[in-house]
Amino acid sequence: MIDVLIVGGGGAGLRAAVAVAETDPALKVAVVSKVYPMRSHTVSAEGGAAAVIGLDDTLDEHCYDTISGGDWLCDQDAVEAFVAEAPAELIRLEHWGCPWSRERDGRVAVRPFGGMKKMRTWYAADKTGFHLLHTLFQTTLKYQDILRYDEWFVTKLLVDDGRVHGVVAVELRTGRIETVHARTVILATGGCGRVFPFTTNAAIKTGDGMALAYREGAPLKDMEFVQYHPTGLPFTGILITEAARAEGGWLLNKDGYRYLQDYDLGTPTPTPKLRSMELGPRDRLSQAFVHEQRKGRTVDTPHGPVVHLDLRHLGEGRIEARIPFVRELCRSYQNLDPATDLIPVRPVVHYMMGGVHTDLNGATPIAGLFAAGETACVSINGANRLGSNSLPEILVFGRRAGIAAAEFAREHREPQPAVAGAQGEDERRRLLRARERHEGGERIAGLRERMQHTLEEAAGIYRTGGVLAKAADTLADLRERAEYARVEDDSGPFNTELISLQELRGMLEIAQTIVACALNRQESRGAHQRTDHTARDDATYLAHSLVHRAPDGTPSVGLLPVTITRWPPGERVYGRD
Ligand SMILES: Cc1cc2nc3c(=O)[nH]c(=O)nc-3n(C[C@H](O)[C@H](O)[C@H](O)COP(=O)(O)OP(=O)(O)OC[C@H]3O[C@@H](n4cnc5c(N)ncnc54)[C@H](O)[C@@H]3O)c2cc1C
Repeated sequence: MIDVLIVGGGGAGLRAAVAVAETDPALKVAVVSKVYPMRSHTVSAEGGAAAVIGLDDTLDEHCYDTISGGDWLCDQDAVEAFVAEAPAELIRLEHWGCPWSRERDGRVAVRPFGGMKKMRTWYAADKTGFHLLHTLFQTTLKYQDILRYDEWFVTKLLVDDGRVHGVVAVELRTGRIETVHARTVILATGGCGRVFPFTTNAAIKTGDGMALAYREGAPLKDMEFVQYHPTGLPFTGILITEAARAEGGWLLNKDGYRYLQDYDLGTPTPTPKLRSMELGPRDRLSQAFVHEQRKGRTVDTPHGPVVHLDLRHLGEGRIEARIPFVRELCRSYQNLDPATDLIPVRPVVHYMMGGVHTDLNGATPIAGLFAAGETACVSINGANRLGSNSLPEILVFGRRAGIAAAEFAREHREPQPAVAGAQGEDERRRLLRARERHEGGERIAGLRERMQHTLEEAAGIYRTGGVLAKAADTLADLRERAEYARVEDDSGPFNTELISLQELRGMLEIAQTIVACALNRQESRGAHQRTDHTARDDATYLAHSLVHRAPDGTPSVGLLPVTITRWPPGERVYGRD
């Protein structure tokens, strides 16, 4: 019997594992990951991690930026805990070996980031996620007793009588299906950007943890809030980090004009300071792109309309020193050099503000089930996450979930193995049936593509009720068709078809929750912009969306009040300094 079973070997999962091992070395901890932990999406984070460090900065200012950036949908008690604990987490990471970039005098270097009024984004050049994940991974290796299930795919949570009992997982290499009994489970499975066709997210980001929890009765929260990042490479969706604009990059339309000066980015005066306009919040920048496109001021390419990111004036030296990875990505994937060429970019799905509903310690309404990281919604991101808040979030809440799960495991008796055993056997039989050849139905890839385009059309940067309602019908239909999808591979080892089918079924359910929440929220707030309800409506919707799976399998949406502590709702204002 495992005491704490963590699903996910990314930043949140590994941080939780260390927290459990440190809380009580006697506890048995296991990390299950569908890829080798160092391949988790955390590795690709570039720009940095926010935490107050400068003498000119305060915790309250970081709180305020986060809350106003989130359009007042963040739970303020969660934000206060997050901001207070983030600096210690980043320092702890340094002690474990993370090579934060430094100023000449030895102080930790920080860069500005979108929507943050003070410089508080720590970075390790522009490979922050790589160094952060590597540091966590090597730290977990100190604890010999952390059991690893590398390249195991979890297909089901075992829940009985409101309490979690473990999981069922498939070993990818052999196809072996196993029931793993556990006193507690922490979901740290990352986001679900792959429900959209054009995303910065790795192919593994299919939201499995959200679907696993949702199916067992745990609600998802704020699923309508999908973050578009304004600067993705047009063909691949590869991210060009906000750090490129923090270092002084400009966004130009087809006339070579810095078009953001024409838009209200939430600044008190109509014309924002030229210095900071490219560092407006991501939702507003992505919306400005759509307006430029409508005005015919974007550049057409075979991979859609683009604007240009101009770094040429920074000079080769600064680009090499501060954002070398941007140069490497541009050279490898776009065949250009940002020191001499303009970079074509367009908005790209990047991050899910929503996720599994948890409290401040990662606890879900199912006893013994916790969630942390991008798969969870605590919520500190509200209607729009600020860049560089996510890496510290996975550390702060990964640790909290680890400690809370360790306590739960110590205080509660073992669950009954018989019940979990029976459920596990049912799941095994279901998977074996799913692996049988079935040649009649549609291809998994075709169904997935249809889902992605439906979502992009209905739940993209701008949304309207009519299109959303139609998308809800299409998704219901796709879900039925996915039940009879064509399966050609009936083998055990590395059966990627079986795994893709499990991922697709989960993504279809998640897509339904995104559309249902977007349909229900008849206002515009942060990343959720309704062209048929353009104003923010605090009287009705200063509330989280909470979506449960109804007994017939459809999403059922309700509202949950937002926790306000010290910052009453106001206008979103940037660029004051
Ligand atoms: C390109 C890019 C750049 C970014 N840059 C920044 C940045 O500069 N600053 C910032 O703050 N944020 C950034 N973000 C966001 C941030 O990196 C992520 O939100 C964060 O790393 C998520 O960490 P996580 O631990 O929650 O999930 P992940 O790192 O995605 O890990 C998920 C884990 O779950 C496992 N898993 C998933 N499903 C299953 C299953 N069914 N069975 C078993 N295992 C499973 C995976 O194997 C993986 O180990 C960036 C994101 C992207 C995509």
